[in-house]
Amino acid sequence: MTVADLPKIELHHHLEGAAPPEFIRALAAKKKINLDGVFDAKGHYSYPDFLGFLQCYTDATAALSTPEDYYDLTRAVLAESAENNVIYCETFLATEFCGDGDLVAWREYLSAIQQAATEAEAKDGIILRGIMTAVRHFSPEANRKAAICGAETAGDFLTGFGLAGDENSGAFADYKYEFDMAKEAGLRLTAHAGEWGGARAVRDAITDLNVERIGHGVGAIEDADLMRELVDRGTVLEVCPGSNVALRVVNRWEDHPIARLREAGVLVTVSTDDPPFFHTTMNHEYEMLEQVFGWDEATLRATNITAAKAAFCDDATRAQLLKKIGE
Ligand SMILES: [Zn+2]
Repeated sequence: MTVADLPKIELHHHLEGAAPPEFIRALAAKKKINLDGVFDAKGHYSYPDFLGFLQCYTDATAALSTPEDYYDLTRAVLAESAENNVIYCETFLATEFCGDGDLVAWREYLSAIQQAATEAEAKDGIILRGIMTAVRHFSPEANRKAAICGAETAGDFLTGFGLAGDENSGAFADYKYEFDMAKEAGLRLTAHAGEWGGARAVRDAITDLNVERIGHGVGAIEDADLMRELVDRGTVLEVCPGSNVALRVVNRWEDHPIARLREAGVLVTVSTDDPPFFHTTMNHEYEMLEQVFGWDEATLRATNITAAKAAFCDDATRAQLLKKIGE
């Protein structure tokens, strides 16, 4: 079996960040939106650094303005995921992009996304779940609205609450109210931490927000005590190596700590984050892990079993995933 054939589970994925460039170009052309500076000469997303990436992301997603756009986006994104043999994906959703925090509007966006997910599941067998996400560089009011919209629509499809965005903006403790509200509504919790903020950020996220998963978390490699704590707590890292290389969190794949974290017993999973922005796919991530760290089929399968166990889905769905992975 090649890595392309392996059934894969992806836990860290931003819906807009997965938008194929040709999809955004076509949508922008239809709406006469100027996207100068978003693409390079080859038509790939283009930006100089992390803050430039956030700007490019915001500019590209300006073309997405209606629930119908999100229906089309979800279909386009899931078709690409299914081509990579992704059998289950959790995607981050932000109310700021989907109705600007208005609950009635958010329900329309959510219903369009869910409709697209249901159709993709019927066609390709891929299962999608959503994680409502507060974004650190958005306003506190916007993030409060995100928590309210998340809590009001928590259910079979919207199963998690997360925190993304610029890690240097604000503290984890600033989001405690939103995370408590989400948890009370039955949403499972994750937060981006330790992508840029080192071990300290990972520690703050588990201490201040009591999350069960960490987005990235690669900064934990700096702190052996923290790694032991992650092992003891069973905290799962949503590691996105290609994203870290593209944004220069590490310089080269060879420098990436994913293999060392795994050897230390930390539970790691593999995702793409924002695949076309980082010129990657799930297949590409797996090929690089095989080439650079010698991860064989058994190791990659074990990583997917970890991901299935950490997925924010109900137990019947989890059992279905574990069966497909071949546990
Ligand atoms: Zn992310």
